[in-house]
Amino acid sequence: MNVLRQLTGLLGEDAVLRGSEDMAGHLTDWRGRYRGRAQCVALPSDTGQVAGVVRLCREAGAPIVVQGGNTSLCEGAVPRDDLPGTVVVSLARMRRIRSVDVANNSMVVDAGCVLAAIQEAAAAHDRLYPVSLGAEGSCQIGGNIATNAGGTGVLRYGNTRENVLGLEVVLPDGRIWSGLYGLRKNNTGFDLKHLFIGSEGTLGVITGATLKLHPLPTARAMAWLAVDSPQAALAVLARLQRRCSAALSAYELMNDVQLNIVLQHVSGRRAPLHASHPWHVLVELSDTCDEAELAAALQEVLEAASEDGELIDAALAASGQQQADWWAVRHGVSEGNKKAGIGINTDPAVPLSAVPAFIEQATEAAHRVLPGAPVIVVAHLGDGNVHFIPQASFEQWRALTPDQQDGLAHAVKQAVNEVAHALGGTFSAEHGIGQVLTDEMALFKPPVEIDLMHAVKRAFDPQQLFNPGRLLPATSLPKGIPND
Ligand code: FAD
Repeated sequence: MNVLRQLTGLLGEDAVLRGSEDMAGHLTDWRGRYRGRAQCVALPSDTGQVAGVVRLCREAGAPIVVQGGNTSLCEGAVPRDDLPGTVVVSLARMRRIRSVDVANNSMVVDAGCVLAAIQEAAAAHDRLYPVSLGAEGSCQIGGNIATNAGGTGVLRYGNTRENVLGLEVVLPDGRIWSGLYGLRKNNTGFDLKHLFIGSEGTLGVITGATLKLHPLPTARAMAWLAVDSPQAALAVLARLQRRCSAALSAYELMNDVQLNIVLQHVSGRRAPLHASHPWHVLVELSDTCDEAELAAALQEVLEAASEDGELIDAALAASGQQQADWWAVRHGVSEGNKKAGIGINTDPAVPLSAVPAFIEQATEAAHRVLPGAPVIVVAHLGDGNVHFIPQASFEQWRALTPDQQDGLAHAVKQAVNEVAHALGGTFSAEHGIGQVLTDEMALFKPPVEIDLMHAVKRAFDPQQLFNPGRLLPATSLPKGIPND
């Protein structure tokens, strides 16, 4: 029996999508720049069904691409166009909040739960799930875990890795690993969950997770700052860390190029300050203390910074609505950038102290390849993670052949990433590797690390069927099977 018929028998007709129209949203990446091919999209409803799908694909030799919300910014969740017989396994139907243990500050969820739904479920129990990012209305927790997503809360709460206590995974051989521990201490050898966090679907399908919850902040204070340089932004950050310590929950930098793009291309966004300035920072303090206390601490720091010439201008948010509006500006960057032109995205992180040098040197390096290009800078500054995005206009881009476009993007990224590497940084801080950064892996990762990663991959997935051509450089691809 062919694989398609077997999958339909297992899941039911409506849970196996075929035909290019039905599959369209699963085959194109979020930016709409890459389109892959698959023989079908399987939509299992529970872990047992995922295990069944994996066993069928394994027996047939069908490559598997695991898909969450398909918001990857590095083409991680779409199938390749050169691997016949690929089955996309989408977790879209696995959306149960399985349980909340309030006393343990933890919750167990299906991997297909959308991040915003998890935040809401935690808040309903007066708890916070702290990972937050612009795609939170559509990305899934399984995708967050598979990419170790960062976002705006890392400064205080860490990456996704720091907020996962346990996992349930369907392994490439079809077995289910039930590691949904709710423990903060468990010294019993290798902590296997860490292998899957950041593995980008190459080692199995994450089907469930135990997440760490935190007290829900009841007080919030926010400010929008204008500064004349990243160096000045760092000086204010140091003051805030000294005075406000753990209450500092976000510190997000953007340049005027970025702010103007959001204001022009994302509807309903308004400028937080009246005049135009070269650099902007969104600061958030949050805690369970009295709101007036937080606002007073923020004001005190900003006054001192202003007296010492570190600030050009600043405004404190006057209401919850204004706070939400400013976050909407910050979270509008990806949508704005997608509409404004062809951004050549990079996602490096460098030590905080090296951020100003990175921005300066990376601008010079990018301009050597793409002279005069506007450069979008939007940074999770508290983490040293700078999204540095030289931009080509649509007209410029359309004038190039696909090969020339690839060559140009590659040259720009490499020039920027070389600067980050030389400053002790990484070429991928939070978006992962996907299909687009495997060359950088080969270039910048020490060979011994690559060897170890290949060894892990072989141990889990000897047939190399899971997410072929992602994450690892120069992995030999499976042959695939003819489409049914
Ligand atoms: P997908 O895109 O579907 O998949 C991503 C990778 O994970 C793929 O390799 C896929 O195979 C694998 N995968 C997905 N689900 C599973 C699973 N259940 N088991 C095993 N593997 C799986 N990222 C950040 O880190 N920080 C940000 O601030 C940020 N902001 C963003 C803003 C916007 C507007 C957008 C569009 C994206 C942003 N991203 C950001 C990138 C992206 O949203 C995150 O990487 C997100 O975690 C991906 O989740 P997803 O469910 O969409 O995963």
